[in-house]
Amino acid sequence: MRKPLIAGNWKMNTSLEEAKRLVQAILNELDGIDVVEKVLCPPFISLAAIKELLRGTSVELGAQNMYFEDKGAYTGEISPIMLTDLCDFVILGHSERRQYFFETDEIVNKKVRKAFEIGLKPIVCVGESLNENEAGKTEPVITNQVREGLAGVRPSGQLVVAYEPIWAIGTGKAATGKQANATISLIRNIVAGLWNKETAKEVRILYGGSVTGNNIAEFIAEPDIDGALVGGASLKANEFVSILKQTAKLKSTR
Ligand code: PEP
Repeated sequence: MRKPLIAGNWKMNTSLEEAKRLVQAILNELDGIDVVEKVLCPPFISLAAIKELLRGTSVELGAQNMYFEDKGAYTGEISPIMLTDLCDFVILGHSERRQYFFETDEIVNKKVRKAFEIGLKPIVCVGESLNENEAGKTEPVITNQVREGLAGVRPSGQLVVAYEPIWAIGTGKAATGKQANATISLIRNIVAGLWNKETAKEVRILYGGSVTGNNIAEFIAEPDIDGALVGGASLKANEFVSILKQTAKLKSTR
């Protein structure tokens, strides 16, 4: 059985004080949600302070990105070594990184290899654009991103993949549960082909794109969807907690 996982991607939002307040508000509501793995991904500058707030709780920390070199003259970058003391997870290949910071599948692959090498669990994002979706190219685009992103990576049940159709991110236009499940089972088959069936059954594959408290149930009800990567709705404590609670309830009754 794969443990459901809900991760909040705060993107470039929250000052240090706002971040601490948001964490506290989430922690105040968290009783009895142990069946769901919970991950917060705040901005880098808040990681150390939030790690302290999360000490002794069941909430884990993730980074939103990292560079693939350990150290050196890479002004402005954050090294994997800097993150290992702070984080359990790292989001890699988010479509905003691919779109605005020109991250290629090759770069994403270097980061995925480095994350495993150093003991961080990667949440690898893949997803097709609206044009690709409308042209019926979802399958080849996703297949390519998964294959390239995982090239040369040793099989690991610690991998997390987030299927995030670009047209659904931050638009309020989520995919349907059925659409997301179909692509997510395709991703599981690709991982099975690349690695093996047993490991592919362990890998958690999330849906991301305009997930809220109003639609989470539709995704969690699907057999291949193991949770969600949540952007905008993770910035509101009550909305994020509602997503966690519904996930816990639905997954424990299935
Ligand atoms: C994301 O940034 O990963 C995301 C899914 O954003 P949103 O939930 O706001 O669409």
